[in-house]
Amino acid sequence: MALSDIAGHERQLALLKGGIRRDAIGPAYLFFGPPGVGKRTVSMEFAKALLCLSEGGDACDVCDSCRRSPEIHPDLTYVTLEKDKKILRKDQIDVMQHFLSLTPSRGSRKVAILEPAESMNLSAANAMLKTLEEPPPGTVIILVAANPGGLPPTVVSRCQKVSFGLLGEGQVREVLRREGWDEDEAAAAAAVSEGSPGLAMSLRSEAWKRALRGLEALCAAPDAGAVLEYVDAKLKDRTEAEFILHILLGKARGEMRARLGLEAGRGLSGESGPGGLDDDELQRLSAGLVETVRLLGGNVNMKLALGSFFSDWAGRLTGGPRVSG
Ligand SMILES: [Zn+2]
Repeated sequence: MALSDIAGHERQLALLKGGIRRDAIGPAYLFFGPPGVGKRTVSMEFAKALLCLSEGGDACDVCDSCRRSPEIHPDLTYVTLEKDKKILRKDQIDVMQHFLSLTPSRGSRKVAILEPAESMNLSAANAMLKTLEEPPPGTVIILVAANPGGLPPTVVSRCQKVSFGLLGEGQVREVLRREGWDEDEAAAAAAVSEGSPGLAMSLRSEAWKRALRGLEALCAAPDAGAVLEYVDAKLKDRTEAEFILHILLGKARGEMRARLGLEAGRGLSGESGPGGLDDDELQRLSAGLVETVRLLGGNVNMKLALGSFFSDWAGRLTGGPRVSG
């Protein structure tokens, strides 16, 4: 992986890669923006590109440096909170300082990433300021912060600032796909991620699995009674409800794309989902899903909205005869 493989943040990536190519790298950067948008990923890839021995402006992925895992790279250090701690301490900055003062073992640079930078206490920040005032040659320090307002202005003013924003839904989807998610999952999670791939990934674990099981159960419910019973007894929270709708919407859209010949079918036949519906029904299902998602975003009763939607489709989402290619 390299900077060029990152989805979204085009402007920021162009700036960083341009800096490497022109050999105009500052001693300190501040990456800031909302949590979960990819600041850490970019900082790690930026470090990799800075340390790459091929000097092509991005990581080459084949040189000695690129092949090193970041955890054991001799010219890279990642300073973060210790387990159960909320403060970055001065002694951690001292260790980082010592690391940066050593001669690079491979190329000409040593890189330190510090995150969350706003967690430095005052003495840590003062120690950091000293390093920023007189950085050892070849040093690049990347401060990563969701809340840069928590950093002393003296520290901020010494850094080149790179601001990161929320991603578009399509970009989140792309990030998730590159993480190995399948298309339906990625589309559903992106739709509720609010522009943050990190949020999408953190949601995946529990609410996500519950939603997959929930969708399975709701599609298998033979009639409205069974739907309402399930919703009443099992549906936990709004996130789960939104996931259920978005996963099904992702499947419906995938099915439509497959029927239009825009992509190969992905084996929906026989699974729970919209595979057995005809084209008109598929359209109605998608429209109904979009409307229910909208309702859920308002103040409507979640169980009522989901129950009523799935009651309408009870017994008809249990797969179908289509054989996909
Ligand atoms: Zn390389």
